[in-house]
Amino acid sequence: MKNVKELIVRLLSLTALTAVMSTCLMSCSSTQEDEYYDAYFTAMDTQITVRLARDSGQRDGKKTVYFEDAHLEAVAAECADIAKRIESIFSRTDENSLTYEVNGAADTFFLLDEEFCDLTKRAFDISAKTNGAFDITLGTVTELWDITGEAPAVPSDDEISEALTHCGQDKLTLDGTTLTKSDRLTKLDFGAIAKGYALSVITDHLKSTDILYGLVSFGGNVSVFGSKGEESKFKVGITDPSDTSQVVGYVYVDNGYVSVSGDYERYFEADSVRYHHIMDPATGRPCESDISSVSVICNNGALADALSTALFVMGSDAAMEYYSDGPYQFEAVLTLKDGRTLVTGNLESKALFEDTAPEEEGQQ
Ligand code: AMP
Ligand code: MG
Repeated sequence: MKNVKELIVRLLSLTALTAVMSTCLMSCSSTQEDEYYDAYFTAMDTQITVRLARDSGQRDGKKTVYFEDAHLEAVAAECADIAKRIESIFSRTDENSLTYEVNGAADTFFLLDEEFCDLTKRAFDISAKTNGAFDITLGTVTELWDITGEAPAVPSDDEISEALTHCGQDKLTLDGTTLTKSDRLTKLDFGAIAKGYALSVITDHLKSTDILYGLVSFGGNVSVFGSKGEESKFKVGITDPSDTSQVVGYVYVDNGYVSVSGDYERYFEADSVRYHHIMDPATGRPCESDISSVSVICNNGALADALSTALFVMGSDAAMEYYSDGPYQFEAVLTLKDGRTLVTGNLESKALFEDTAPEEEGQQ
């Protein structure tokens, strides 16, 4: 069993990057003196920030040569295009998306898009390796609850039982690029993995450009890439679920991904009960976990996203055991409903997690 550190939550009063993210569509902020060029846009129902280092790495004598705004704007626009393309494949609600088509009542789909098939296979694999805690076949359940819809209401027990009969990986067979549904009503929901996947694709793209370093923030997911020189790590604040304007601490990330799943992110309230968006596949209801949020740090965006959801569903004891004995390499910060924060062993020993910091890069 790896060492697990229990941190007493210490609230910090800090402004956060997210507070600055108020503009939608493609807008940007930057002056020549700024270290970063920031671009903001919306995709997958989420506000996205692309933060690019302005330093080109070139020197004119002793002077730094900065990229032109037009260049940085073009690179950020490429990121926005990638996000839109991935949205058009994996959105559950967009009537023009491939996922929407697959979710329609039909049996077999031939020659599906390769990217769709690849992520579906990875999702099935993660589902198997998390004992079904992460499950992309929950579409009928998430649609029934419609937590982020216009007028969400608590469904009846019968409705939940009925929706659950259409869930489960055994209802789908993926053979190459052909998908067969044994239950026409089964629906896919990539909500717990698609943003992290998009983040990976965008980050890989940025690494292939001449941008030296930066970060991308995509809802509850953030990636950092490149090297800042001597100070190579980015500091990412972990939101305090009991007061989302505060953080419980910071992780330091160097070329990696942080993904957060929290009960404070998307929810509705009825009769003073909070119904959040992370479903327990065993019950078809919002998961009654002792966890309020899970932040996963690892080197793959899709995995970080899926794992943060899965660990939330598992609950803290099983999640910490999974960290020790499970198949994946990752680190995690768990904030519990009782106010404690659990940190996995390597974060502690490598001093990647702190509960105080003088200034921040961003907050998740
Ligand atoms: P995240 O914020 O990454 O934890 O993803 C939550 C979203 O994924 C929800 O809004 C649902 O669309 C979907 N979802 C909810 N519960 C699960 C689950 N147990 N496994 C996979 N996807 C889920
Ligand atoms: Mg997730």
